[in-house]
Amino acid sequence: MTTRREFLEEAGAVAGVAFVGCNLVGAAAAQAQPRRREVVVSGRRVKTVDVHAHCAVPDAMALMGRKVEPPTLLMSQVSDRLRAMDEQGIDVEALSINPYWYKAERDVARQLIQVQNEKLAEVCAANPERFVAFASVALQHPDLAAEQLEEGVKKYGLRGAGVGGSVNGEELADPKFHPFWAKAEQLGVLVFIHPQGTGAPTELATRLKGSGGLANVIGNPLETTIALSHLIFEGTLDQFPGLKICAAHGGGYLPSYAARSDAGCVTFPDRCTKPLKKKPTEYLRQLYFDSLVFTPEALRHLVAETGPNQIVMGTDYPFPWTKTAVDHILGTPGLSDAERVAMLGGTAAKLLGIKG
Ligand SMILES: [Zn+2]
Repeated sequence: MTTRREFLEEAGAVAGVAFVGCNLVGAAAAQAQPRRREVVVSGRRVKTVDVHAHCAVPDAMALMGRKVEPPTLLMSQVSDRLRAMDEQGIDVEALSINPYWYKAERDVARQLIQVQNEKLAEVCAANPERFVAFASVALQHPDLAAEQLEEGVKKYGLRGAGVGGSVNGEELADPKFHPFWAKAEQLGVLVFIHPQGTGAPTELATRLKGSGGLANVIGNPLETTIALSHLIFEGTLDQFPGLKICAAHGGGYLPSYAARSDAGCVTFPDRCTKPLKKKPTEYLRQLYFDSLVFTPEALRHLVAETGPNQIVMGTDYPFPWTKTAVDHILGTPGLSDAERVAMLGGTAAKLLGIKG
């Protein structure tokens, strides 16, 4: 049987506060507001960072006649977001916005991104311990995107850029996007690639219809796989060797079947028309990947293919793919404590300029 003292201790522990007396109202409040989970590895508190956290800016979306969906993307609901972060042991979210503006003309795109990046900066300034953000950029206008990234970083204190896995059907490796990659490399900031899905109307989009949500379940990781593969095979990563790129969803399928990329050039050398400085799979060791794979074995394999210092934690908040991103990293066998600390937040903190 629980004694009153034990009950109070437990309630106090949950709330993170001490209270005196038989205060059941206090206990109820304590349960509604759980204590912030503090992640500790080998006795040391770790500052955890979620690099894959979505949000939305309604004023910017209105410029394209769009509404925010789901409402949990709104930063006006920041207390819900902070509560989820506290429960899950996430100290800092690196916010990004999935591009919906790639069809916008230059003037609209300029205005939309300015509104959006200003708002992102405001949100981060209101909670500087809990949020940093990736700038949004109008990648369909590559020179403008380069300007927006520079302004985002220098004027608004944003920590990099969030981009789609393609731009109106064009690959990120297309030379037209070189001005953007050159600027990202020059600034030394992280570019977070999040898939846009397969687009429509394409043969693939048609095939992904039906039960199972395949446009997302398969289409999203497939787009990331294609985007990264072109950045490798077209020589973009050779041309901009200082680029820091992080791919969502563990890099999609690429790390799962990476060796086929090497074998392709051995089996059919005439099909690898651009000379590369190293083997295709070796580029995986200079890219970053979020930890959003779903089993310890998948994370172990991702580490084996890319390296323990290439993995950063990602949750996909507010989309409820996982609520156990921290435990996923803590519970994957075969990692050293230093590797777990790096994945939980150490590597992301360095990439995003988050102070300890
Ligand atoms: Zn996502």
